[in-house]
Amino acid sequence: MDDKSIIEKINKLKKEKNAVILAHNYQRPEVQDIADYSGDSLALSRIAADTDADVIVFCGVHFMAETAYILSPDKTVLLPDKDSGCPMANMITADQLRALKKERPGATVIAYVNTTAEVKAETDICCTSGNAVKLLDKLKDIDDLIFVPDKCLGSYLSKKSGKDFFLWNGYCPTHVKIQPEDIIEKRKMYPDAKVLSHPECTSAVLELSDEVLSTEGICRYAQREDVQEIIFATEIGIMHRLKTENPGKKFYPASDAAVCSDMKKITLEKILWSLEEMQYEIKVPDEICKKARKAVDRMIEIV
Ligand code: SF4
Repeated sequence: MDDKSIIEKINKLKKEKNAVILAHNYQRPEVQDIADYSGDSLALSRIAADTDADVIVFCGVHFMAETAYILSPDKTVLLPDKDSGCPMANMITADQLRALKKERPGATVIAYVNTTAEVKAETDICCTSGNAVKLLDKLKDIDDLIFVPDKCLGSYLSKKSGKDFFLWNGYCPTHVKIQPEDIIEKRKMYPDAKVLSHPECTSAVLELSDEVLSTEGICRYAQREDVQEIIFATEIGIMHRLKTENPGKKFYPASDAAVCSDMKKITLEKILWSLEEMQYEIKVPDEICKKARKAVDRMIEIV
């Protein structure tokens, strides 16, 4: 079947099942194009919570579909590829976090949204790359902090807030592939371009950047009238949205190696199968869902 026929079938099934398709900024271009909304994980989960659709087809990785379910458990949340996971989210388990909490009783646990529902359920408050700095500013009276799982984001936040955290040793295998040498080389090639980096990059990369921003932050920055060229240090899939929203502007990936293979697992065919078979349904057990929701709600309330 060609892409045109697949897209027609997807659109027909979407209407029949009252479904909405959400795609993360790192998804394949054709998946972003068929989606009703593209964005980062939290923006998409909020859309999931507000939509009138009965079915949400989440084109992203497993923890994102779980977060959508946590925020809207009355809806059917489908992940078109059940093996589409986030290696960083899998670098800490709920058991490991419980053990750490025992070692540091009384500490406040902040978890990046890139965590499993079980880990969120053991967390005091969640954060995203877009709101973490603001959130820490509101928590300035709290000193004993544990940050999981991303040591790169955690160390960036620690520098920004002037606070010492206990950092878990997790990282994003895609973002750490971007090297400081890549930034130096690209700056030489494109001297007029601004360098925008995602805080999952290493501190050596962040120090060479003009701005440190979430994917939504990078997309917003790209729309500034005074900005014509951008070198972006994040997963390469964001290029599609940047180019679509800013025709005529120039975008250069800091490194062609920054490809998240899990984010590329979802294809048009898998979206079609997902709607035909209503697979793979993502659910979170009630008790975990309620506890995880508290950590996500607390973030939304504070920020
Ligand atoms: S880019 Fe990194 S953080 Fe995002 S899903 Fe892939 S591994 Fe996880």
